[in-house]
Amino acid sequence: MLIDAHCHLGDGAFEQDRDAVLARAREAGVEHVVVIGGTLAESERAAELARARPGLSATAGIHPHDARHWSAEAAARLRDLLDRPESVAVGETGLDYHYDHSSREAQRRVFEAQLSLAGELGKPVVVHSRDADDDMAAILRHATAPVVLHSFSSGRGVFEAGMAIGAYFSFSGMITFKNWNPAVRPSDCPTDRLLVETDGPYLAPAPHRGQRNEPALVRVVAEVLARVRGESVVSVERYTTDNARRLFGPRLATIL
Ligand SMILES: [Zn+2]
Repeated sequence: MLIDAHCHLGDGAFEQDRDAVLARAREAGVEHVVVIGGTLAESERAAELARARPGLSATAGIHPHDARHWSAEAAARLRDLLDRPESVAVGETGLDYHYDHSSREAQRRVFEAQLSLAGELGKPVVVHSRDADDDMAAILRHATAPVVLHSFSSGRGVFEAGMAIGAYFSFSGMITFKNWNPAVRPSDCPTDRLLVETDGPYLAPAPHRGQRNEPALVRVVAEVLARVRGESVVSVERYTTDNARRLFGPRLATIL
């Protein structure tokens, strides 16, 4: 059993063969997929998919790339989406100073707004962080909702801020890349804070790098995580599944 804690299953890359993708996931032992929304449209799509099938949950949020589209109206629509039973978390939100598609000031404001919305609704927040360690660490310290640092690859400062608030660390196919040289290793993270994800259709693990990523490949991530932590795959499957259910709630017990 495995849970893919982060997949953009509503992406157009899955439009032609989504049922086959989910059948392959089931065959690989994936029981549940958290379908990520990073724009209002993607969040709407994630909710639709999750409503139609057991074994899928949705998140709703505004990615830092799109922080410039934040408005009172967008915030109200987000709140509506998060009210739905299939919706288990806020996000993906966060800071991305690598691409700077939105101004850094807008990114911080929109990230903080979603963090406080999550605190108010009592839902976890899915956080993206790239090249923004200082601001990320400073903002995380004030989080009032459970946080998951997705596709974790940040430095010591973000790790320590995350540890201070009991954050979860979600590892992706990046841990399988030859040039992966992390400041914080998966073995630095406590067992009860670890998750695995694909971030599909992006970040396919080696040896599939460059191809479309999909939930079945979360097994490759779990295998590499087990190897680098010196644990059995069965044990990684068990604790990452328990952690995802504790974090995201009872809907995660529904099975694909
Ligand atoms: Zn993502």
